[in-house]
Amino acid sequence: MPITEALREYKRQWKDKHPGYSARMSRKWRAENPEKAKEHYLKNHAKFRDNHREKRRAQYKKWAFENPEKVKAGRDLRYAREVGAPGAYTALDWMALRVASGRLCFYCRIALDEKTAVRDHKTPLARGGSNDISNIAVSCSPCNFRKRAMTEVEFRSLLATDKV
Ligand SMILES: [Zn+2]
Repeated sequence: MPITEALREYKRQWKDKHPGYSARMSRKWRAENPEKAKEHYLKNHAKFRDNHREKRRAQYKKWAFENPEKVKAGRDLRYAREVGAPGAYTALDWMALRVASGRLCFYCRIALDEKTAVRDHKTPLARGGSNDISNIAVSCSPCNFRKRAMTEVEFRSLLATDKV
C-alpha cells in the first residue's frame, strides 16, 4: 500500500474511533479564526452559487430554444403583470388561435407562418386591455408596429383611410 493511502486509511480509522472529533476541531478552528472562516464560507458559497447559476442558465437556454412559444407567452405575462393587466394565455392557446385565424393577419389578411405571426393585444395592455387570449390577435409585424398603442377600432379606422 502506498504511503499516502496508508495514511489516509489510518486517519479514517482514527476518525471512526473518535466520532465528532473533526466537527469539534473545525468548530474550534472557526471560533478561533472567525475572519478566515467567514472568508472561507463566502468563497465556497460563491463558488457553489456560480456553479448552480451557470447550470440553471444552461438548462433554461436549452428549454427556451425548444419552447419558443412558451418563452413569448411568458414574456407577455411578465409585461402584463408589470403594467397591472389581468389575464394569461398559454403557448397552446396561441397556437390554437393561429390555426383558428386561418394563419392570416387579423388586420391586413396577409398570410403568416409561425415565424412571422406576432401577438397583438387588440386593446393594448397599457390602455386597460387584458392579457387573456380573447384580447390577442394574430398579426403581421408591420401591422403590429404601426398599430402601437392604438385599440383595434382606432387602428381599423386608420387602415380604412389607406384605402380611400
Ligand atoms: Zn398585417
